[in-house]
Amino acid sequence: MALADLSAAELADALATQRTAYDRIREQGLTLDLTRGKPSSEQLDLSEELMRLPQGHTAADGTDVRNYGGLAGLPELREIFAELLGVEPRQLVAGGNSSLTMMADTLKNLLLHGGVDSERPWLQEEKVTFVCPVPGYDRHFALLESLGIEMVTVPMNADGPDVEAVRRLVADDPSVKGMWLVPTYGNPTGITCSQEVAAELTAMPTAAPDFKILWDNAYALHHLTEDETKSADVLSLASAAGNPHRPVVFASTSKITFAGAGVAFLAGSPETVKWFTGHLGKSSIGPDKVNQLRHAQFFGDADGVRAHMAKHREIIKPKFDAVERILSDDLGDSGVARWTTPEGGYFVSLDVLPGTAGRVVELAKDAGVALTPAGASFPYGQDPDDTNIRLAPTLPPLAEVESAMAVVTTCVLLAAAEKLSA
Ligand code: PLP
Repeated sequence: MALADLSAAELADALATQRTAYDRIREQGLTLDLTRGKPSSEQLDLSEELMRLPQGHTAADGTDVRNYGGLAGLPELREIFAELLGVEPRQLVAGGNSSLTMMADTLKNLLLHGGVDSERPWLQEEKVTFVCPVPGYDRHFALLESLGIEMVTVPMNADGPDVEAVRRLVADDPSVKGMWLVPTYGNPTGITCSQEVAAELTAMPTAAPDFKILWDNAYALHHLTEDETKSADVLSLASAAGNPHRPVVFASTSKITFAGAGVAFLAGSPETVKWFTGHLGKSSIGPDKVNQLRHAQFFGDADGVRAHMAKHREIIKPKFDAVERILSDDLGDSGVARWTTPEGGYFVSLDVLPGTAGRVVELAKDAGVALTPAGASFPYGQDPDDTNIRLAPTLPPLAEVESAMAVVTTCVLLAAAEKLSA
């Protein structure tokens, strides 16, 4: 029965029951962690062969990968990932180990130099504002904040950002220069942006002539089901709409091979790629092609990547299933929680009774379960409804995910009973 429908006496009983359950958990002295979306060591082991690669040091085109050069990255690796990301190899740059660094470089270049379609560097504008679909990726927001870029939010719907809300923000205000989007299996919602929404975002009129969609496709290949959702072809849509320079696409192998030693990618219009590598050439004489070659040899081709991702799925799917099962069993009819059931990616987004997310995280911490701070998925760390909690089940072993989730659901019910009784 929904907590909100209980009589005062029944609610007092429910509160006492949850307190007892919670106190019992606290006595166990747990130390569990559902905070960050990292691969488990079992997942990292899938790529152990990389430690013995590359064989030799010569790329397919004869390049000696030990030397300087090749700013846009090794062609054979770009070919593999161009196929997977649905872009032309010449429109794809293979870089260092972090796509977040490429996003930061892109933003810094836009601020300092302006983009290919800018009238002036963004720093010369009075103000720069970004549209942020929420809940979203905390590091996106922290990056914008560190660069002095203001943030306005739009809701994330089941098919992507709320297009009408975005349209209203971008139509008349030229300070609105761009937006974030994790298009496939979003962080933390797991939502995939539909073809229709992508088409609208690439075609919508914007007051800023150099509006950018930072299309962070970090989880493009990270399917949790056999139905491998395809991302919208944002570059073609934007070209067809006459805005070819609007999207800048990012991806990486951080959660495919090694999170600290993978390869990151950037894609865009040919002009955007030239712009990016032109600026990159002032700070680098070429990427780590040894790492790129070992990745190319490890995968062989795009099907090699697909087969590898299926092995990740086998490891992490049971953890996502456990989260879903425990949330449904414990909170299904409580009326105080909603959550996403992602078909890919690394997260589950849990909405608890408004006004209790911070309390849930605090209670969980006191019971030995670390959760991502409430509000982390919102700009400036502020969730206006204090309702959202991001769950990241990939890193701990399955048994720990199960124990941690039992604590989470107890804390959700206790915090809700406290609030409703107050
Ligand atoms: N983008 C999103 C949406 C992420 O969730 C993450 C990591 O959690 C990253 C980017 C980081 O990517 P990289 O390791 O390539 O810097």
